[in-house]
Amino acid sequence: MESLLAYKWCLNLEPSVKVDSQALQLEQLAAGIRRSIVLDEEVFEETFLRCMICRDRYEESVKVPKILPCHHSFCLPCLMQLYHSECAQRNSLTHSRAVGVGGTITFQCPSCRNSFMTSESHVVQLPTDHRVVQLLDFVRHTNTYTVNFCSKHHLQPLNFFCEPCIKPVCRDCTVLDHKDRHGHYVMDVNEALKKYRPVIESAVSNMENEATSLKSKSETLEDLVRCKDTNNDTIKKEIKDVFVVLRNALENREQDLIEIANQNVSREKQRIIQIMDKMEERQMVIKEECSKLREALSDSNIEEMFNLHENLKAKAKNPIHVREIDDGLQTNLSFHSNIDFLLEQIDNYGKIEAQVTINNISKMSKSHT
Ligand SMILES: [Zn+2]
Ligand SMILES: [Zn+2]
Ligand SMILES: [Zn+2]
Ligand SMILES: [Zn+2]
Repeated sequence: MESLLAYKWCLNLEPSVKVDSQALQLEQLAAGIRRSIVLDEEVFEETFLRCMICRDRYEESVKVPKILPCHHSFCLPCLMQLYHSECAQRNSLTHSRAVGVGGTITFQCPSCRNSFMTSESHVVQLPTDHRVVQLLDFVRHTNTYTVNFCSKHHLQPLNFFCEPCIKPVCRDCTVLDHKDRHGHYVMDVNEALKKYRPVIESAVSNMENEATSLKSKSETLEDLVRCKDTNNDTIKKEIKDVFVVLRNALENREQDLIEIANQNVSREKQRIIQIMDKMEERQMVIKEECSKLREALSDSNIEEMFNLHENLKAKAKNPIHVREIDDGLQTNLSFHSNIDFLLEQIDNYGKIEAQVTINNISKMSKSHT
């Protein structure tokens, strides 16, 4: 639909023949005749209310419309500028006579090219175009309203409304595309406005309510986004705490294992040292017994010889047993970590689970809707 801002002027036409004007008006009123001129505001302003040079709207104080002798009008500032540039151009040409300040020059109308003589004071004193001033005043005091025209039919106002099509239509539309007998029900646009205003108003209010509810919902969601961050912080802290415990447990176990290894090694060392001590002791005893036996041999003390010999034999029957030497057995410690199994366990250790719960926020937002 084409929307034009238009002036609607109600004119009481001057009777061209001599008639009683009051009687004519009464007659027209009785007949309901009241002719209006519908104008495009922009076109009207462009044509009558703007200076042709600067395209600014005339004003009574600054942009005063002035009439040239050829009856073309321009704003005073534009005419002054034209006058001054004409003077400057004349003075720049060496062969022409210089123009004094405010002097008289030949001036051309920018519209029709008619020339006339003028001076600066002459330009200022040019008569004001009172028709333009009147028009400005008229427009200021004229009611304007928007008329919607049919996009299909030239300058036909959309005065009707086709109910099944939910569409404003013009008079031409009602007889062409929206015929009653084709199921179109056309009503007056004011009637439609009266009928549909409450419907539209309630729809608007519904939509406004929805907008309010949406706003409140998105505020709730914003809160939820903030909650997510808090949730994430909590989970991170829990994970870190558990891994501190795990690391402590690992370090403790490491210390324990080192301690166990140390104890085992030192026990084993102790055992071997004890055997060595026993062997040394035995060596001393044997040495002593042997020297006693040699002494007995050299003294030919037969009793002592046999006593000592029996002693030695008895001792030899009870030898010191050394596993490492006698049995060829050796104890070595080794560490079994079962690391692959544990690493696999660690790889799958812990679980992050999503839980759905009913929270207070959702109850709150439901009560809004
Ligand atoms: Zn101007
Ligand atoms: Zn002119
Ligand atoms: Zn139409
Ligand atoms: Zn229709």
